[in-house]
This record gives sequence, C-alpha cells and structure tokens, in this order.
Amino acid sequence: MIEFEQVEKRYGEEAIAVHPFDLTIEDNQFICVIGTSGSGKTTLVRMINRMIEPSKGIIKINGQDVTKLNEDELRRKIGYVIQNIGLFPHMTIRDNIMIVPKLLKWSEEKKAGIAERLIQRVDLPLEFLERKPKNLSGGQQQRIGVIRALAASQDIILMDEPFGALDPITRDALQEMIKGLQQEMKKTIVFVTHDMDEAIKLADKIIIMDHGELVQYDEVETILEHPANDFVEELIGKRKRNSYYNNEMTVADLMVKRVEAISISKSITDAIRQMSEKKVDTLLVVDDQRCLKGFVDINFIERNISKLKPASSVFEVMGKDTASVNQNDRVADVIEPLINHTFKYLPVVDDEDHLVGIVTRSSLVSLVQEQLQ
Ligand code: ADP
Ligand code: MG
Repeated sequence: MIEFEQVEKRYGEEAIAVHPFDLTIEDNQFICVIGTSGSGKTTLVRMINRMIEPSKGIIKINGQDVTKLNEDELRRKIGYVIQNIGLFPHMTIRDNIMIVPKLLKWSEEKKAGIAERLIQRVDLPLEFLERKPKNLSGGQQQRIGVIRALAASQDIILMDEPFGALDPITRDALQEMIKGLQQEMKKTIVFVTHDMDEAIKLADKIIIMDHGELVQYDEVETILEHPANDFVEELIGKRKRNSYYNNEMTVADLMVKRVEAISISKSITDAIRQMSEKKVDTLLVVDDQRCLKGFVDINFIERNISKLKPASSVFEVMGKDTASVNQNDRVADVIEPLINHTFKYLPVVDDEDHLVGIVTRSSLVSLVQEQLQ
C-alpha cells in the first residue's frame, strides 16, 4: 500500500507544482495518472521513490515512511520505467534485463533463470538473450523493455508515459501485455499517461491531475459516470455512459488514424529501415494513391532473407491477401471477424480503397467488455 498524507511540492521559490493531497493506493492495483502537460503527474510519481523529495507531507509504503529508506531499499521495493523504455545498445539483452538485480548485488544463485523465465513470458526465443538490442526488431525491443521492469520482482512499478511515442499497433500490443503481466504477477503499477483511452483500458483506478491539483481519484466506471468537474468531463469526452458503444458507431469512430505505411515501389531495405525506426514489426503497403495493396512482416523477411536481394521491391515479399474493413462499416459488424482472427488489427479503407486508419483487436475487446459491465 502507498499512502500520501498532505503531500505538497514546490520547486524552489517557484509557484506550487503539486498542491497538498491525500491518496491511498492499494496493493495489486493498476493506477493511471492522467492530466494535461505540466499538471504534476511526473512530480507525483517520482515522489514515491524519492527521485523528487516532497516539500511537505509524508509518503508511506506499507506503513513505512519512505524518507527512512535508503537507496537500495527503495530499489528493492520499486521499479521505474522511463519514457520509451530505451535499452542500452552496447549490452546484451540478458544484461539489459538483469541491470537492477546486478545493481542490488544479488547472488548468482538468486539471479539464475530470471532472464530465461521472463523472456519466455513474452514469447521470445531464449537465444535472443545473447543478442544486442539492434539485432531485435523494434517491437521485440519494446517487449524486453517491459520485462526488464519486472526482473527485480519489486511489488511496485512506476511507469512514466512508457508508450508515449509508439505507433498505435505496438502500443496496443504492449498495453495488453503489461496489463496481463500485472494481473498475473500481482504488481502495483502507477502509470502516467496523457491518453484517456490508454487510462481507461489499463486502469483499475485513475488519478486525474489539473494544474497541480488532484481533482479526482476513482474507479474507471465512476469517473465515466460521475466526473468530478468540467475538466474531467472534457477529458472523458464522448466516452461517457455507454454512448461509446452503440449500434450507430462506425469503424471511423473507433479507428486510429495515424498508421505506418510504405509505398509498394520501395525496396526491402527501405522497409526494414522504416520498421526499425518506427519500432514496428509490420507495415501496410500502399500505392502512389495510398490505396491498400498488402502488408510486409519483418519475421517473414528474416526467414527468407537468404533468398532475397536488398534491392528487391516490397511487392515481392508482401502478403497480398490483406483483410480490411470500410470506415463506414458499423462496429457491430466487424467485431466478429476481428476477434475470431489471429491478426491484431485490421486496416481501414474508404470507398475508393484508400488506407485511412486501423482498428486494433484490443480496442474492440475493451469496448465489448465495457458493454457487458
Ligand atoms: P507533468 O508530468 O504532468 O507534465 P511535471 O510534474 O513534470 O508535470 O511538472 C509540474 C510543474 O512543475 C510544471 O509547472 C513544471 O514546469 C514544474 N516543474 C517540474 N520540474 C521542475 C523543476 N525541476 N524545477 C522547477 N519547476 C519544475
Ligand atoms: Mg511528465
């Protein structure tokens, strides 16, 4: 349990950054902290592990005042993941995963098998442990970043906009993964985001910050049904009270518009570079008019790399049997194909077959769950 008692933060003589607040976070909860930029989210979270010291008030973990804990004790209790979970490029994946257990000087015996167990949990092969990050795809690197936070088996994990800069598909997959791991491994996660959809999807309870004030701390459903003030109401927008999912809702209402695509005339080398830069494992392929033509997959390219020339065009390696949905389709009609298939997302096209977005499987799943509650 984490307790804040009349905690306040001022930076020097500056205006107050976080006004005095009380807050209790129960064990095994997924807590999201949301608010506009500069509202005090990072400050609130960093005070928990004393990366920032409060100006006033007391923070307790399991009844113990954190100012009485030394750095090692804090590290043992609390994991911290910064934005974009960057891996250290010169270290192997194993060494990256084991950073904190090493800092804590765990014995060889205690460290044995941790990296192996964790990498299997995210469905990556054991031999990746000896590779350097650059030899993994972007999506694979992100998964390692997430399990690294779990290696020292702390009960509390702080995450400050860890998926902020990711493309929607990778982000979606990692959200599902972190939520699954949190429930399975019984962690308390305090997760900063500025994305309300992310908060609704992940959180048991949400902390809403506005100009340094903690304006609401409640379960997701309570926030949706009883927003504390106009600011919260604006944040939740049209998601209010089941209007989020109804018969009139179309794919266009649900889709993500920002989507990575590559032109069909580009080379395989271009595709690999773009996937690596954007940290994605697949790209949709479009022609000059941005009409959807297919998709390329890094795993397929890797498996066939010996048969391919770097200058070969994307056309030669792409999958052409891409399913897609029309932006005007009703959401109710695409739920079944999406949930029953193995793909994690479907491209969305307009009436002329132009690629206009994607719908992800997990956004649909959470929609259906909300509907059933
Ligand atoms: P958020 O994470 O919600 O964007 P922060 O917690 O980073 O907000 O910042 C809250 C407020 O405190 C902002 O007004 C910011 O400018 C101020 N602030 C943050 N860090 C410092 C600092 N080191 N010195 C002075 N002011 C700071
Ligand atoms: Mg911040």
